[in-house]
Amino acid sequence: MRKPTHPEKLYLDFDSFFASAEQQLNPSLQGRPVAVVPLDSPHTSVIAASREAKPLGIKTGTSVREAKEKCPEIVFIEARPDVYVKLHKRILETIERCVPITAVRSIDEVACTLLESEARQASDLAMRIKRSLRDDIGPVLTCSIGISLNELLAKIAAEMDKPDGFVLLDHADLPGRLLGLELRDLPGISKGMAARLSEAGVTDIAGLWALAPKHARAIWNSVEGERFVSALHGHAVEKPETVKRMFGHGRNLRPDWRAPEKVLQCARLLTLSAARRLRRSHYRAGALSYTVGTRRESRVTLEGRFRAARDDHTFLNCLNGLHEKFINTGEMRNVTTVTVALHELSSEVEASRDLFDTRENLKQRGQWERVSDVLDKIRGRHGSKALNLGPANGPGNYIGSKIAFGRIPSPEDF
Ligand SMILES: [Mg+2]
Repeated sequence: MRKPTHPEKLYLDFDSFFASAEQQLNPSLQGRPVAVVPLDSPHTSVIAASREAKPLGIKTGTSVREAKEKCPEIVFIEARPDVYVKLHKRILETIERCVPITAVRSIDEVACTLLESEARQASDLAMRIKRSLRDDIGPVLTCSIGISLNELLAKIAAEMDKPDGFVLLDHADLPGRLLGLELRDLPGISKGMAARLSEAGVTDIAGLWALAPKHARAIWNSVEGERFVSALHGHAVEKPETVKRMFGHGRNLRPDWRAPEKVLQCARLLTLSAARRLRRSHYRAGALSYTVGTRRESRVTLEGRFRAARDDHTFLNCLNGLHEKFINTGEMRNVTTVTVALHELSSEVEASRDLFDTRENLKQRGQWERVSDVLDKIRGRHGSKALNLGPANGPGNYIGSKIAFGRIPSPEDF
């Protein structure tokens, strides 16, 4: 494994991006506690809290009711995805004038690879980027920058001094500067992973640092564990960027799950699961295929197409249409296997630039995407079965009531 001679990665992450963006664009919001919400509803949750709201305990995932209790004067702003995407594009242009971007990790996070000459003047480079952003975009939308030996450490560094921070982590800083962090502060250490580490006797960064590669692999139950600890030690562990072709899931159906409406219910769950993985990997899909197999070992596939999408609503609507076609052509008899896959992948951000034709479409699509993102977040926090659009349980379990898909659902629908 390679040990870099200089800090070769820069990670840039905006502070409270959606909330800061709203404050940047609307001076009357500056200096006030602001929470961006996906829809104008008292039953939704905050997707971004401004720096004035955060010290009051309001953060991503806080319910609107709770936010109001904690801060009666808080201003709720309905998210404007079209505005953020435009801003995102301008931000990338500004950063690119300072340093080439290697990867766009999300709407407000990018990773860059530094030359040795740039790394030697890491602090100058970080200040130059911040100054350019201030000049081009404005002083309210600040970012935090981490520079280190690999992307994991650079990302950790970017988190260490928020907001408007800059942290450089070089070999000499390891592990010392990390020791004050909690395991859960590290990107990639979920609640579940922290529990597994704890079971293995690892409860702090020092313990994680001391893990032997084999042991890390065993705890993660994957080579990822070894990569993670090795990255923490400052090695350059480049993940081969796998070119993803599709996200798919399949199931064999038990006899009591072979009626057409049950097949559809199963296919919907498979679709939701594939869509979650798609979003997690920052892709959009332009096509969905629905395959059913019968006892006689024959399989039939139908495919539907749509504008590059990442929301559950688009995928489920497409699936419903394909299912109807299967019924009309008599293919829904004795189905024993079902597979759903999302194809024609494109990058989440690229596609969103010229995705929409009308404002109304944009609004609708944006709302469905936000609903999907919020559901993912809640599932991330409370487990994957916490919320679903449509039936919540798979074959063999109780099937919950379905939801009409003509409108944006509110949490009482679940
Ligand atoms: Mg951010």
